[in-house]
Amino acid sequence: MSVRVRFAPSPTGPLHMGGVRTALYNYLFARKHGGQFLLRIEDTDQARFVPGAEDYIRAALDWCGLTPDESPWVGGPDGPYRQSERKAMYKQYADQLIASDKAYYAFDTPEELEAMRERLKAAGVAAPAYNAVTREHMKNSLTLSADETRERLARGDDHVVRLKIPRNAEVRFEDIIRGWVVVHTANIDDKVLFKSDGMPTYHLANIVDDHLMRITHVIRGEEWLPSAPLHVLLYEAFGWERPAFAHLPLILKPDGNGKLSKRDGDRLGFPVFPLDWQDPATGERSSGYRERGYYPEAFVNMLALLGWNPGTDQELMGLEELTQLFDLDRVHKGGAKFDPEKTRWFNQQYLRLRPDAELGAQLRGKLAAKGIDTSLERATAAAALLKERATFVDDMLEGTYLFTSGSPLDGNAAADEELKKRWKPEAAPALEAYIAKLAAVAPFDAPGLEAAFNEVLQANGLKIGQVMPLYRLFVAGRMQGPGMFDVSALLGKDEVTARLQAGLERCRAWA
Ligand code: GLU
Repeated sequence: MSVRVRFAPSPTGPLHMGGVRTALYNYLFARKHGGQFLLRIEDTDQARFVPGAEDYIRAALDWCGLTPDESPWVGGPDGPYRQSERKAMYKQYADQLIASDKAYYAFDTPEELEAMRERLKAAGVAAPAYNAVTREHMKNSLTLSADETRERLARGDDHVVRLKIPRNAEVRFEDIIRGWVVVHTANIDDKVLFKSDGMPTYHLANIVDDHLMRITHVIRGEEWLPSAPLHVLLYEAFGWERPAFAHLPLILKPDGNGKLSKRDGDRLGFPVFPLDWQDPATGERSSGYRERGYYPEAFVNMLALLGWNPGTDQELMGLEELTQLFDLDRVHKGGAKFDPEKTRWFNQQYLRLRPDAELGAQLRGKLAAKGIDTSLERATAAAALLKERATFVDDMLEGTYLFTSGSPLDGNAAADEELKKRWKPEAAPALEAYIAKLAAVAPFDAPGLEAAFNEVLQANGLKIGQVMPLYRLFVAGRMQGPGMFDVSALLGKDEVTARLQAGLERCRAWA
């Protein structure tokens, strides 16, 4: 039997990082086993529908490269893949369960349900529920006569269909990740399967669709584990073979203290969504990894390792490699702590792997937006130097001094501060001698410059630490950045000479 898995989001808002990870593990599992990865939109709850959420889900999965084989957008043999478009098919399944005495009609009004809860609370029941005991005192097709039930239905009285949970039984199933799960039916209430508005509830639609779509493995978040025993009972009630279950661990806050939420992201300054999102009702904006400048490869790589151990020390892995290694047996039971620093680290690694020409073109575009024109060749050469210290393409703008002319000390109070701390009059003759040597450095490249600089240090009896910081501040205007010989080679003889001279004059003026 070929593996068929599905990602089944409800379009109630933007996809959270946890949702993307669920999609990713489904995708990897399907690829690994040569099966299919389906996407089904679970939109039976009209009250929770949020416009734009489905488009967001699609765009987010596209960005991550997790394109489903079957979906509402490309179709497939078991469509439609939007539950709202499958509406007409659920009722017959509710009817089937009623006919086989596995489910029943319930006519209780909201007031009657409330009265039942009050009564039970007063009697000391902590969590009152509509279940095997209480249903005997309620208005349903088990307590009413067949005639009255028929009459009520014919009259169109409001009613729901409830699953008749067996009394005093144990539900057991083996979850691929969590092992054996055993729940007593006393802890499961007679869940509503079909609502008075003619729509199925999540539980019924989910099971019917998984069955009709021939799903072999249900891989989903841990928050669905409490529903799984009910789902097992539903499969039994239908007499259908059920898929295997794998419930993925929660994604935890960086300190491990509870489930990661959007609020943690806002507080600590990292996104919890793949893409930017604006809430259509409140206008509130949430930021996404894409817009922050993350590469999808970095985001996906980080997510893959959030709860799964590949069994190797290798950390950088693309979808191909992840697919080769993926195995549900290596998914952890316990929650996975999200690490924003590690996420940045992944991006840095992927940025370093980008071709210089690509980074150069992006850097050039960003410089142009700041009114600085430069050639692609020069931007590419600069990117080659700057990428080692960058996490995002934007970080390379720290190297703007590579594209301007004139002393980077002008109007640069921070550099002046630094310079005052580091200035040593005895370095002046060495810098002058270096300036004099520049004329003869040919070709004007990093090894030639380094040799000239070392000669000057030796001749003046100085150490590199006594002169290099001044060189750096004069030419780059900042203490961090790529090596000064590379920087100087890129800037060219005239520019470097002018900047060194301007720096010396400045220091002499206040020395
Ligand atoms: N619609 C559910 C959700 O939003 C699907 C849960 C499941 O995968 O069964 O997560």
